[in-house]
Amino acid sequence: MVDLIRVWEEKVRLVSMLGDKLSEREIEEAKRDSHAHRLPRPCGLTVHTGLGCKFGCLYCYIYDMGFPSTPRPYPLKGLQLAYALALNPAVAPGHYGTFMAFGSVTEPFMDETVERALEYLDAVAGILGNPIQLSTKAWINDELAARIRSIPDHLSILVTIVTTSLHRMLEPGAPDPEERFQSIQMLSRRGVHTCLFLRPILPGLCEREVEDILVRALDSGAAGVVLGSMRVTGGIIRRLEAVGYPYMREILSRIPGDLKPEVQVTLRMSDLKGRFARLAGELGLRVYPSACAANVDAHGLGCAACKFGPCGDVNKLPDVDEHGLMEISAKYGLSLEKVMIDERGMFLAVKGPRARIAQFREFVKSVCKRRVIVR
Ligand code: SF4
Repeated sequence: MVDLIRVWEEKVRLVSMLGDKLSEREIEEAKRDSHAHRLPRPCGLTVHTGLGCKFGCLYCYIYDMGFPSTPRPYPLKGLQLAYALALNPAVAPGHYGTFMAFGSVTEPFMDETVERALEYLDAVAGILGNPIQLSTKAWINDELAARIRSIPDHLSILVTIVTTSLHRMLEPGAPDPEERFQSIQMLSRRGVHTCLFLRPILPGLCEREVEDILVRALDSGAAGVVLGSMRVTGGIIRRLEAVGYPYMREILSRIPGDLKPEVQVTLRMSDLKGRFARLAGELGLRVYPSACAANVDAHGLGCAACKFGPCGDVNKLPDVDEHGLMEISAKYGLSLEKVMIDERGMFLAVKGPRARIAQFREFVKSVCKRRVIVR
């Protein structure tokens, strides 16, 4: 049975232990940092190893979010980052804790940020022990692959390849896709759970290239594929038009509703995802319904926390401890009035401030690996 109280006690111990190793100034910096406050995304808590990205992919939304094209390492040192994460009320530490997602708003393995990324991987895996996933477009040589392999509890790695013909147009600063197939090979050879990340699916282009990309990923040793939809903003559309992306009509026809300059909109593409998933399956590649499903598999876990599940080993789904739920809700200053658990998930009637309920919900969802519906 999963012991919510023990996970909580471990969180408290980590905050205290890490706090003892940091100066007052470092503690204050970590407390102010967003890693100490923000809620996990569906793929996990996003960990920023740097600020900005020099790869300049035209389909990328980070530039519309204000991130620069000149990268620099994230300012916290490894122990501060671990402290901030342990402090975050929505984060549960440990192997059965919150999924960590590296690489969502930057490339972790750019020259400018690779050392910081490795420092963070060591700190999060070695001190907190959470399951980590990292997405990358970098060329990973044997030395870096060995370094990644040495991270405790292993990693789930996603290597992004979406085109082999228009990469110079669409990903002007990123390594050649040939090098990224080599990255899959280097990591897979060393036993690192590595998947092809076919995200974003670029309408018009990916239909023409998908089979070749899937076959080459499989031949390179990929454990599976994660397919991801394209999100666009007005800025992305303008940038694609400016370079003469040849399949604009296919993209524009899939935009649901109106497009606002900086608001991200997910294209309608369930037809393409379905076709690509069937093809990948026929070719013998495992298809994960989302990035976190690959993370679950890489770490030998089970999860039924959303409608795509259950994922991984269903025998590893933790039992739920109702008494622990009551005690944990009190730690958040909440009143848990009713608990109902069935095969669809957990239904909790909770009273208290909304922000605290959201943090409590994320903590419980991470540890119990169940859908948590709060009323
Ligand atoms: S059930 Fe699967 S897709 Fe859903 S959160 Fe869990 S691992 Fe991710």
